[in-house]
Parts: sequence; C-alpha cells; structure tokens
Amino acid sequence: MGVSFIFQTLPAICNIVDSNDKFPVRRILCVGANYVAHALEMGRDPTREPPFFFAKPSDAIVNADKVLNTLVPYPPQTNNFHYEMEMVVAIGQNAQNIEAEEALGVIWGYGAGIDLTRRDLQKAAKDKGRPWELGKGFDNSAVISSLNPVSKIGHPQDARIWLSVNDIIKQDSNIEKLIWSVPEMISILSKTMTLKPGDLIYTGTPEGVGPISKGDKIAGGVDGVGEISITIS
Ligand code: MN
Repeated sequence: MGVSFIFQTLPAICNIVDSNDKFPVRRILCVGANYVAHALEMGRDPTREPPFFFAKPSDAIVNADKVLNTLVPYPPQTNNFHYEMEMVVAIGQNAQNIEAEEALGVIWGYGAGIDLTRRDLQKAAKDKGRPWELGKGFDNSAVISSLNPVSKIGHPQDARIWLSVNDIIKQDSNIEKLIWSVPEMISILSKTMTLKPGDLIYTGTPEGVGPISKGDKIAGGVDGVGEISITIS
C-alpha cells in the first residue's frame, strides 16, 4: 500500500556524427566467432559453420566518442574482463525473411563498438552448455561510437579495425576478413526474427582479445566508420 514505482521510459540511444539527432536502440544482437584468427584463439573451428548469435539488453549501451573519453565501470563478479572491438551495423528498416542481395537496403548506418565480456563467466556458461547472458549482457557492456549514416559513408567493406590498451595496439585487422558478411548476417537473422529500426548488430571481433583492469585507457575503432575512447573506472 502506498508504494509507487517510477518507470524509466527514456529509450537507449546512440549519438550520430555531426548531428543532434539520435538513433534509438531497439535490440543489440551480436555474432560470435566471425574472424578466423579470433575463432582459433577461442579454440573454435574456424571453418564456415553457420553463424551463431547472442543478445545484450538495449540499456547496456554506452555512448563513447573519441572526444569524450567516457568512463566505463569495471563490472562485478569477474576477474577476467575482456574487450572485443567490432564493427556495428545499425538497422533502419523492417527486415523479415530477406535474401542477402536485398540486405544492404535495410541498413541505416554503421559505427564501431566494443563487446565487453566477462570472459570467466562466459567460459563457465559455455563449458556447461548454459546461456551467455551473465558473461555478455551486463550493465554497460555494449560500448558504441557515434554512428555514421550510409548516406555519408556508404557500406564499408575494406577498413582497418583496431584497438589499443594504454596506447599499445592489441587488435589490428580489417573488416574484409569477416567470415560472414554483413548482408549474409542480416539475411540469416531476418529468417529467424523480424529485424526492425533501432536494432544494432555487433559483427564480431578480430584476434587479439584480452583482459583489462581499472585505470586502463582503451582506444580504437573502424577507420572511416567510428572511433572510441574509454577509461575503465
Ligand atoms: Mn563479440
């Protein structure tokens, strides 16, 4: 009796480069093991087996621009907190049961993101065949740059993807090495669920993932697509 609840109704949003407009986030979908060298470092078969996906809650989004140097808190319940730099696709149209040839048409834009991971919790879940939520879907686990619209940058296919920790390069690859291309991922997802405006797809990380600690300064991005700078607090 007398207890009132205050519901948070503001949507998660992404910033947009050189704009005051915002991109409202609906769902955050992530693909696993989408670069050969990263699949190998995670002990997976790097052959082209069907891609697999997991999700993070939309309010895990952290807007982190190069100019802002955003603070990201070290999460609880982990001793092995990892970065994974990824290109991110921002969906702008409904997509249901579409073919790869049609898929570029539903993309609003692109950014760079870091799929932050509690690797110890992910591994414990993986070993027992349990869901990955606690390893992947925690607070502040989806870092995102400001987005660039397709109308400005087109569809990037050959761009350096990189990440440094305290100015030491840890990941340095190219998005042309994606095992499953962006149109292929969209087509496969669209045959499983309806993609809608606001959905983000984290497209997988290249090799070189590793642990980070409080105080570490992380920079990186996808050249011409998005740039990130964060400090772990
Ligand atoms: Mn990832």
